[in-house]
Amino acid sequence: MTPEEFRRHGHAVVDWIADYMRRVEDLPVLSRVVPGAIRAQLPEHPPADGEPFETILADVDRIILPGITHWQSPNFFAYFPANSSGPAILGELLAAGLGVQGMLWATSPSCTELETHVLDWLVEMLGLPGGFRSGTVGGGVIQDTASSAVLCALIAARERAVRGGATGRLTAYASSQAHSSVEKAIRIAGMGRESLRLIDVDHAYAMRADRLADVMAADRAAGHVPVFVCATVGTTSSLAVDPVAAIGPVCRTHGAWLHVDAAMAGTAALCPEFRFLHDGLEWADSYCFNPHKWMFTNFDCSAFWVADRAALIDALSILPEYLRNRATATGAVIDYRDWHVQLGRRFRALKLWFVIRSFGVRGLQERIRAHVALAQELARWIGEHPDFELAAPATLNLVCFRHRGGDERNQDIMDRVNDSGHLFLTHTKLDGKLTLRLAVGQTGTERRHVEAAWEEIRESGTRGQGPGTRRSPSKGG
Ligand code: PLP
Repeated sequence: MTPEEFRRHGHAVVDWIADYMRRVEDLPVLSRVVPGAIRAQLPEHPPADGEPFETILADVDRIILPGITHWQSPNFFAYFPANSSGPAILGELLAAGLGVQGMLWATSPSCTELETHVLDWLVEMLGLPGGFRSGTVGGGVIQDTASSAVLCALIAARERAVRGGATGRLTAYASSQAHSSVEKAIRIAGMGRESLRLIDVDHAYAMRADRLADVMAADRAAGHVPVFVCATVGTTSSLAVDPVAAIGPVCRTHGAWLHVDAAMAGTAALCPEFRFLHDGLEWADSYCFNPHKWMFTNFDCSAFWVADRAALIDALSILPEYLRNRATATGAVIDYRDWHVQLGRRFRALKLWFVIRSFGVRGLQERIRAHVALAQELARWIGEHPDFELAAPATLNLVCFRHRGGDERNQDIMDRVNDSGHLFLTHTKLDGKLTLRLAVGQTGTERRHVEAAWEEIRESGTRGQGPGTRRSPSKGG
């Protein structure tokens, strides 16, 4: 593809994306294809000769689009959002165009310095502790995911303990509601699943700091070494907030590393009125939130800070001869390859920079406030309905609720609304009961979408079993 051909096809792709943004609302949110349906349409063997780009793009519509679940639909309320925006997409495109691999400062100084700078901006924007700023012994880095962030935090904690002379079983702690990535990290770190203690939660599904203290003390008495605690600010099931201010001193008593996982909820701290989320964060050794969830920055982009960068770098840095260079030797630059698992790294800061500059802090705050307000309104409607109940406190943009008719009824409601194609929501279990979750966080979600979703859910709850019929079937797909 010559540069001129690239220009032509590139315009076509941007047009395609712009059209998609406009029509995504009308597409069935959850893909309806059966397993194998997409592969069945792909030729068994790769083409021997190159094909025209127009043909390839046409196949995106014909083959690929039906197999897409539309995460960018304003009617996507499932899991947690992975929202996006025009500036983010363009930043991603530009990063691909530059094709930079920013493993060392020297391999593209802009890649490193923009990242450092944007993460300092975020410290200010979210009101994070000043010790996470790059001008201190701490600092931030963009990871691919929150899963990688917790793994790096755990490895740094483990190495810090081992270098400090720890022997015996190293133990780690998280609440019973913590994300599965914590257990995965424990397994990858080779510490063994049995080293992870899941701590009881209170009535609001937040970790009980008193129970944490008891379990850590018991481990210590048994000769184990507590090295790592993961507190969650906004659990995946119900957005519960662990009491970091109470957990911090317990960690300090045992010399354990405190990681705070605020994967989705952290974005809310853009608004000063939601900064209660960060109470006690000054105790944290590391903190992570995902702009790729709720901050209009397309996947992947997970912001991760440490209070002591040396602990992370000591754990992860290996300098082979072929990576030695003058800038690294001066010690005056950040080489982000030492801050995560992989060597190579994409220029992710570009899209984050585009987003922050295009929206502005105020623009971001307005949208976050609007999402929270919509979720709060929905929680009120649910609370007032005789057949439904809230299953957990709805503090931010996630509403956990259920029909009073029991698990089967709730499963039926979820299946109906998801089969309708009009919206997509998912479930969890709280106190052993099937619970519906509706997260408001898509870039284009407005009041009318939440209203329509509630109407559809409510009607599904009042009907007997059978296919949903309220709205005409969605177009396309
Ligand atoms: N932590 C929490 C609280 C989450 O909700 C999630 C995903 O939803 C994760 C971690 C994992 O996120 P990622 O996909 O960035 O690894």
